[in-house]
Amino acid sequence: IAAGGSQVMEAFISELEAAGVENATVKEKCRLHKVGCRGFCARDVLVDITINGNVSTYQYIQADMVPKLVKEHVVGGKPVSDWLVGEDYHTFHDNQTKIVLADLGKIDPESIDEYLAVDGYKAAQKVLDTMSPADVIQTIKDSGLRGRGGGGFPTGVKWSFCAANDSDQYYIICNADEGDPGAFMDRSIIEGNPHAVIEGMIIGAYAIGASVGYIYIRAEYPLAVDRLNMALKQAKEKGYLGENLFGSGFNLQIKVKLGAGAFVCGEETALIASIEGERGMPRAKPPFPANKGLWGKPTIINNVETFANIPQILNKGADWFASIGSEKSKGTKVIALTGKIRNTGLIEIPMGMPLKDIIFNVGGGIEGDKLFKAVQTGGPSGGCIPQQHIDLPVDYEGLASVGSMMGSGGMVVLDETDCMVNISKFFLEFTQAESCGKCVPCRLGTKRLLEILTRIVDGEGREGDIELLQELAEDVRDSSLCGLGMSAPNPVLSTIKYFRHEYEAHIKQKK
Ligand code: SF4
Repeated sequence: IAAGGSQVMEAFISELEAAGVENATVKEKCRLHKVGCRGFCARDVLVDITINGNVSTYQYIQADMVPKLVKEHVVGGKPVSDWLVGEDYHTFHDNQTKIVLADLGKIDPESIDEYLAVDGYKAAQKVLDTMSPADVIQTIKDSGLRGRGGGGFPTGVKWSFCAANDSDQYYIICNADEGDPGAFMDRSIIEGNPHAVIEGMIIGAYAIGASVGYIYIRAEYPLAVDRLNMALKQAKEKGYLGENLFGSGFNLQIKVKLGAGAFVCGEETALIASIEGERGMPRAKPPFPANKGLWGKPTIINNVETFANIPQILNKGADWFASIGSEKSKGTKVIALTGKIRNTGLIEIPMGMPLKDIIFNVGGGIEGDKLFKAVQTGGPSGGCIPQQHIDLPVDYEGLASVGSMMGSGGMVVLDETDCMVNISKFFLEFTQAESCGKCVPCRLGTKRLLEILTRIVDGEGREGDIELLQELAEDVRDSSLCGLGMSAPNPVLSTIKYFRHEYEAHIKQKK
């Protein structure tokens, strides 16, 4: 939409009408088909023209190019070769392994029938018809699926903790409060295939015995919210939500709760407080939400990507899923690839793919043929990984081993012209502003860290500032109450570890 997709769509509607294609004998076969994100955001607007099964894909299409496409290709049958995608478009896709993104960019996200045509709701039906809740939990455990929201906790184990409670009410929550700078995985999944997330929630709700679910999504995602509401309505009309799902006697209603954009509300206990109508602030754990969550009842919270994996695992089996990825990190990871990279976009890679392959094969290398310097993973809570770790396998363990983290899957690529002290300051500005202020180490510690970083960047750094930064960063990391404060110092610590000379150069160049 930002690249002009709506105008391209409108231009096609009017040009096809003007060309008389609507009234021609090919009427039944000529159909405009709106789809979700295909991943290659750098080439938007992408348009496929398919005639008799032959697909031609165009890139960088704008509304004023549409008349020529209709005249020469749709009516004339001859592709406009100058505007077609090149080999790199196919390389971008061929180097990925798509599970969650498999149907994005292919099906119309506003049509439940198109989801049904790709085996949609088949897994939920199978679960409700033939499996016990314990069987479902065991299948998810066997698959090795770990939470894709950042923590990487085994999903099946989390579900079993929740189901083990004796309660009159259980809740299931989908965390769609994606807030990292440069991250758009969850938004794109919901915009491109909302029914997959709903189906994953149905299966999870059945496994733990929840009759009420919430999707907590930030209000800044209006298209995702619209499509989610549309999908929930369609699922209800078909009998996949509400009372007696698939005739099984199981009931589930799912409500959408809009978040007001606080980054900290992505933290489970803050998110729960926000749904309850309280100020979105984390609380100490334990008790964990799986035992005492929403309104004090056992609650499961998983993120969008985790739920979107569930139907595929039930359809294709735990062994199939466990065969993808690395030893301890199974399956794939959706990544928002941004920064100084040629192929900006949404990608899905098998866990364990080397960083080098992500950047140079899928990503097409560094923009403007500059030198690769580092990559920031895990958003503002992650760390900067330098060139020397370019062969690092990207999975939970690999990223943690170099002081970074998977986070929800943001990856910002930096080139030789980027100043790492500035990058560190940028991310700390974000976390400092988003600190909820409940605990002292984070509330005051991030403020003091930012002050020191600011004076270094402004040429007013003092001798001993690097040591002070490091000591304070470690204290904030070790003594904050929630994940935001615990991980906020990561960009500072990792840049001091790998790019200390840049801090020293700033201090030496004192005004
Ligand atoms: Fe709030 Fe920061 Fe403390 Fe978390 S660590 S509770 S965000 S002040």
